[in-house]
Parts: sequence; C-alpha cells; structure tokens
Amino acid sequence: MPAKTVPCPKCGRQLTASGVVSIEDGPELPVYQCDECLVTRNAFGTLMEVALTFCVDENGRAFDPAAPDDPLFTGN
Ligand SMILES: [Zn+2]
Repeated sequence: MPAKTVPCPKCGRQLTASGVVSIEDGPELPVYQCDECLVTRNAFGTLMEVALTFCVDENGRAFDPAAPDDPLFTGN
C-alpha cells in the first residue's frame, strides 16, 4: 500500500498514517496523529490535552472516533 498523506484538519501539515484502527465491525481505517496540534479530550473522566489524532474513512472524511462531534471535523 502506498504511503498516503492527508492534511491535518487543524494546521494543514501533511501527515502519514501512524497505524490502523478497526471501528466496530467496519473496515480498518488509517490513523493519523499531528504532534503540532493539541486538543482537549475527555479520557476516563479527566480532561487532558493530547496530540490531535484522527481517522479517515472510506470517503476520505476525517473524524476522531473519541470525539465524533468535534466541530473541527463536522464543520459546525
Ligand atoms: Zn496539526
């Protein structure tokens, strides 16, 4: 599989996949992480700043499985 890059939805930096993840029973999706961008995520009841991590689905749409409603990805 050729190395595919996608732009970070926040800063536009080109990122290469750091791994894959399976969402429920769906296909494996590539996972991207931008170390330049920090986002606040609720991890085990605690708000933490973590590097922006997201998946890209079959339609090329970026989303964060940990925060699917994040306006960064929904555009709202
Ligand atoms: Zn970024």
